[in-house]
Amino acid sequence: MASKLSEPYGSSLPWAEPSWYTGRPSPYYKESHRRLRDAVRSWCEENIAQHTDAWNEAGRVDPEIYTKCAQAGLLVPIAFGKSIPPQWAKYPIISSIKPEEWDGFHDFVLWDELIRAGGLASVFIGLVVGAPPLLKFASQQLQDKIFPEILSGEKRICLAVTEPDAGSDVRGIKTTAELTPDGKHYIVNGSKKWITNGMFSDYFMTTVRAPNTSGAAGISMLLIPRSEGLKTRKLDVIAGPLSATTYVTFEDVKVPVEFLIGAEGQGFKQTMVNFNHERLWIAFQALRGCRIALHDAFAWALKREAFGKTLIEQAVVRNKFGNMGRQVEALQAWTEQIVYELENLSDADGARLLGGATALLKVESGMVCKYVAEECLKIMGGLGLTKTGQGARIESFYRAVPSFVVPGGSEDVLIDLGVREALKLHGLAQKGKGAKL
Ligand SMILES: Cc1cc2nc3c(=O)[nH]c(=O)nc-3n(C[C@H](O)[C@H](O)[C@H](O)COP(=O)(O)OP(=O)(O)OC[C@H]3O[C@@H](n4cnc5c(N)ncnc54)[C@H](O)[C@@H]3O)c2cc1C
Repeated sequence: MASKLSEPYGSSLPWAEPSWYTGRPSPYYKESHRRLRDAVRSWCEENIAQHTDAWNEAGRVDPEIYTKCAQAGLLVPIAFGKSIPPQWAKYPIISSIKPEEWDGFHDFVLWDELIRAGGLASVFIGLVVGAPPLLKFASQQLQDKIFPEILSGEKRICLAVTEPDAGSDVRGIKTTAELTPDGKHYIVNGSKKWITNGMFSDYFMTTVRAPNTSGAAGISMLLIPRSEGLKTRKLDVIAGPLSATTYVTFEDVKVPVEFLIGAEGQGFKQTMVNFNHERLWIAFQALRGCRIALHDAFAWALKREAFGKTLIEQAVVRNKFGNMGRQVEALQAWTEQIVYELENLSDADGARLLGGATALLKVESGMVCKYVAEECLKIMGGLGLTKTGQGARIESFYRAVPSFVVPGGSEDVLIDLGVREALKLHGLAQKGKGAKL
């Protein structure tokens, strides 16, 4: 049988790259994925790498980079994830991949390379989580107004669900939207906390509730433009300043009714659907974060000597790498499996069958990150605690680990959700209403 090996790409250090990068065959990746990988990598090397330190020091990225990203064709795929609607392909798509060709594995590759570049990725979190409800649930008229602004890089969007008194329990939100007597506007009052990218966003995809309601039924989704009465204040969080985590307050903010996303009372359901892609995308980020840490720790272990031999010559250190490698490769395989299933299911079946599995995948991502970050930090010794030099990327990954564990659904909550969803599918199967595949 003819060999199916292709050209290796990237680092040959163990587990520093997914196996298909090393040239080994895979059923998931084809020529366009390789083309995308090469294009994103070289764009990032040219436009990002040399700025990351300066951005971190300044606490913000250069705002011009957003327009550059739009021109390079990054914003369309970032906004739409696994499938790009043909009407928005009039904006550039990196490496000229056609919208009908774009799939979930392109989304995975895009993020793999963006995360490798560091720094820039956190600027897009708002777009990743804020744009999908606009596409899935907003009126065509609203989409036609907002998408050109955000896909051209002119304006930015974020998702505002969490409040000081309601995080995991979205049903508990208190921010109200009251219809004016003439029925033309909502008046919004309340506050939102830990809103990523809020400081520089122009639009806030916000969950609100009708006055005097409680529970899920009273919740709607409203796109709130930055306007009079909307104030933002920066929150300092563990992983650093570039994601611009924000406290948002709304004081009698007037929003036209045309900015309602979907029907009134559908906001809870819409929010839950939106979580699935966010959780999958957290797994994409976790994988590359772990591979970067493995790369740097391996490079160090090959050259650092202690007790008369290199670290890699010590069985205890090899044991650490073996344990990290098996966990990272298992996470990669599970992630690819879920991407593949989503690719081959309708959106409705994907949400119905894979919500629980995606929640557990996100949990696993956090757990693998915790393990890898700690083991790599130990291998680096003092360098792993140092913000500059050969341990810098591991030091920063170690600090970022909680960002894989809490946002997008906290670990404990998602484990429970995963089991409840699995039982739900089991119950349906028992009644003869299981998956018809
Ligand atoms: C850096 C960062 C960025 C974020 N970005 C955004 C954003 O862009 N938009 C947005 O809307 N939100 C964002 N969030 C909010 C994030 O989604 C919430 O912090 C998260 O959902 C947890 O909510 P909470 O902090 O209120 O914790 P709580 O809901 O108070 O939970 C605290 C802990 O209690 C335990 N717990 C609670 N309920 C249960 C349960 N039923 N079963 C088991 N254990 C339970 C868990 O251990 C949980 O971690 C962000 C948060 C952070 C820290």
